[in-house]
Amino acid sequence: MAIISVGSMAFDAIETPFGKIDKIVGGSGTYVAYAASHLTSPVKQISIVGEDFPEEELDELKKRNVDLEGVEVIKGKKSFFWSGKYHLDMNTRDTLITDLNVLADFDPKVPDSYQGAEFIMLGNLMPSIQIKVIEQLTVKPKLIVLDTMNFWMESAFEDLKKALGMIDVLLINDSEARQLSGEYSLVKGAKKILELGPRFLIIKKGEHGALLFHENHVFFAPALPLEEVFDPTGAGDAFAGGFIGHLSRTSDISFENLKTAIIVGSAMASFCVEKFGPQRLKEISKKDIDIRLEEFVQLVNFDIDLV
Ligand code: AMP
Repeated sequence: MAIISVGSMAFDAIETPFGKIDKIVGGSGTYVAYAASHLTSPVKQISIVGEDFPEEELDELKKRNVDLEGVEVIKGKKSFFWSGKYHLDMNTRDTLITDLNVLADFDPKVPDSYQGAEFIMLGNLMPSIQIKVIEQLTVKPKLIVLDTMNFWMESAFEDLKKALGMIDVLLINDSEARQLSGEYSLVKGAKKILELGPRFLIIKKGEHGALLFHENHVFFAPALPLEEVFDPTGAGDAFAGGFIGHLSRTSDISFENLKTAIIVGSAMASFCVEKFGPQRLKEISKKDIDIRLEEFVQLVNFDIDLV
């Protein structure tokens, strides 16, 4: 089953307590594509890059059956550039530079060959751009997932509210859930957010896992306790790619299968943080993913005698 993934393809500069890298390929769409392509195909990418974006990276994506017909390459312009510095806890970071470059004029077009895709992953972008993509779809997808951030809650709230009425799954982190709902309790906040439109809400809590809310149900997926977290950049996007990749592979959007999908998402995120940039997502094999999924099963598997 095909996925349409919309998101930035970029250069990042990253500083963590363990190292620094001045220029590495990144972007939310790039991470989603690498993660999802391990699970399903094709991933139909929609993005925009400058002529500086490496040809080898595009070739690498193509090799993984990522369709790039919807990726515009703008001659004479530069790709989106983002720079961030992580704090010691590796959970919080400061954005140092955001150079929109080609992203400033991004007017996404859904190619005819992409129509009919069942799963849509709207990566973190301006809500009006996310809406534009939904409005171009001629066949109603099975599931639309939207990722967003606090910045859009502050600067484009009306558009974001409109987008929330058009999607099925919202993906945000805990502080964003608190901001969006005005509730400190994530359980109370989730109820309010689900009233805004999405049928499912996923709240990511970094190294503390992720919560899935649907009607009156809640499910928790842990993050794998890792000895070393090298670079958390893209972990949220790798999670999203794993999540939607699993749903697309199984073509099942029941709550039970969404539970499995957030475990697969957590597994892909756990690989992502092991090296700088998307490197680790490129290296891993199906066997590595299976072994990691088994580690997740063992992490939360226990017997209990009821009292
Ligand atoms: P994450 O760590 O999952 O939040 O995603 C990090 C990726 O998002 C980086 O590779 C950045 O290039 C990309 N990114 C950061 N800010 C933005 C933005 N405002 N719009 C689109 N992509 C962004």
